Amino acid sequence: TTTSSATFLPVLERIAEEISHTPGRGRPADYIPALAARDPRSFGMAVAEPDGTVYGVGDWREPFSAQSITKVFTLALDLAREGDELWEHVGREPSGNPFNSLVQLEYENGIPRNPFINAGALVVTDRLQTRTGDAAGELLDFLRAESGNPALDFDTEVAASETAHGDRNAALAHFMASYGNIDNDIPVLLDQYFRQCSIAASCADLALATGFLARHGIRADGSRLLSRSQAKQVNAIMLTCGTYDAAGNFAYRVGLPGKSGVGGGIIAVVPGRCTLCVWSPGLDERGNSVAGVAALDRFTTLTGLSIF
Ligand code: GLU
Repeated sequence: TTTSSATFLPVLERIAEEISHTPGRGRPADYIPALAARDPRSFGMAVAEPDGTVYGVGDWREPFSAQSITKVFTLALDLAREGDELWEHVGREPSGNPFNSLVQLEYENGIPRNPFINAGALVVTDRLQTRTGDAAGELLDFLRAESGNPALDFDTEVAASETAHGDRNAALAHFMASYGNIDNDIPVLLDQYFRQCSIAASCADLALATGFLARHGIRADGSRLLSRSQAKQVNAIMLTCGTYDAAGNFAYRVGLPGKSGVGGGIIAVVPGRCTLCVWSPGLDERGNSVAGVAALDRFTTLTGLSIF
């Protein structure tokens, strides 16, 4: 961390101070014990600059369960490999329904509305699995490389818990398979998907790993993952579909592409300028971190940075 280029550190400090006085942090996800046990008062926020400088406040170095944030990276990895063919198997429209909803799949012939609801993420993971033979391993390697943190790993306790409570995701996968939209054996796919969700990472790790979306597709080592146009596409889908069935409100309050997870993390992108990751485990009724959304809202208000 070079303080000379830690441009937004004073803003982060101010936000952390404000958040510390805010009551009502929501409730941690309780569908598996490992998530329910987290302290809702935890709060961390990090900014990564395009040159790899990273800094933060509060619990910004504390690992948490990345959960659905990983859907952004599997989407990018698959899009990089197969390009537009992916869009024959998953849509690009906000769903307006909960992340684990089955209802729209029947009307849309097993094609999920977008890559960030569970059904869509299962399709993306399935396609990446077919192309790589180890989708979750591919994802972990990518996150380690981009964050510069070789210690990043799956959380086997969380993955086992997800499997034990995985009936809904199994139903989604089977239902799509009945329309021919899943290639791999369902147990293989579910294992890949649950390990992907279980990855533990900090705000620092995830802000750095998101950097390619601020650099218009360029990875930390200078190589290109996505074309400029594909990076725009991923950012656009984050804006419209990245925060469950509250993406309209997130766009209204924050004005940035973002992706949340039920572990309480949210990543956000200021294209060409920086990436952010905020974490606080207490969720609102849609599944977004209460303090996380509030902190990003304050960030764009105080800095004037948004995509609008
Ligand atoms: N592992 C969770 C599930 O598939 C992910 C939930 C989330 O972060 O949205 O149910």
